[in-house]
Amino acid sequence: MKKTVTTLADGRELIYYDAAEDTVRDAVDRRPLGPVSTSSEIRRDPLLGDAVAIASHRQARTYHPPADACPLCPTREGRPSEIPDGHYDVAVFENRFPSLAGDSGRCEVVCFTSDHDASFADLTEEQAALVLAAWTDRTAALAALDQVTQVFCFENRGAEIGVTLGHPHGQIYGYPFVTPRTELMLRSAARHREETGSNLFDDVVAREEKDGSRVVLATGHWIAFVPYAAHWPYEVHLYPRRRVPDLRELDEGARTEFPQVYLELLRRFDRIFGPGEPPTPYISAWHQAPFGGDGREDFALHLELFTIRRTSGKLKFLAGSESGMSVFINDVPPEAAAERLREVASQ
Ligand SMILES: [Zn+2]
Repeated sequence: MKKTVTTLADGRELIYYDAAEDTVRDAVDRRPLGPVSTSSEIRRDPLLGDAVAIASHRQARTYHPPADACPLCPTREGRPSEIPDGHYDVAVFENRFPSLAGDSGRCEVVCFTSDHDASFADLTEEQAALVLAAWTDRTAALAALDQVTQVFCFENRGAEIGVTLGHPHGQIYGYPFVTPRTELMLRSAARHREETGSNLFDDVVAREEKDGSRVVLATGHWIAFVPYAAHWPYEVHLYPRRRVPDLRELDEGARTEFPQVYLELLRRFDRIFGPGEPPTPYISAWHQAPFGGDGREDFALHLELFTIRRTSGKLKFLAGSESGMSVFINDVPPEAAAERLREVASQ
């Protein structure tokens, strides 16, 4: 992999990840961009204790631009974009409209391919491996920043999820604190360690594998299952068999096998609701241990993939119970979801 670090016209960082070692990236961003203005502020809710990023500058961000004005497509004659080169493999740049910036963290955009009409599931294994390498490298780079405590690599896919750019891309957030969900997991893991002397994540994975009814796919280095108490209609958790705290520590075997496993999961997601159905909207979320702090060694890197579509043409909304009380009501039994996800395996 060849990594090239450069800057955009307003000083934001742009990093190319190329499969070919001899790639040369020397295109210059000539757009007349003003300085990035951000007003991101973290406020803590006194009742819940959680953090809210107040980011008013985001109201002005690019919203469903026409395909010929896509800011994530490569630059073409007379049509400059966020990526000055005429072609790229994987490109990462600092978000011009970040939710977190400065002392409040960092937001990056990851463009998975220069092909505007593709989706992650259309990538080749080589391309998916390059995205994994980029996620890993960004995790290492953000770990080195004082203001970043935890790195979250994720993809929102589909207009139903609120995606405002159709180009296949994901995001990376570097939070300046441990996120509430990670804190809950760390607390559960610590309690489990105290009560049983063993690792919570290891025990959950072992229980799922032994039971088998919710296992979606299992390979030499990875296992994917619908969790026992799934929150979402179709939800899959993917774990490397050898537990590691974050992407940087994945071993070569898991790294090599990941593209095949992840692409298969995404392709199955697109088949859940049958032929003729528009692509399944999904959120794909990497859970990584925070840097430093207690419990890091007990945390297990894993990916949570889920859709908000519950049946053909119908979405699961976070309404009264979910939004008001944080109690999820799931209409699809996890065992039935797992069975469906096995049925739609690639032949
Ligand atoms: Zn595009």
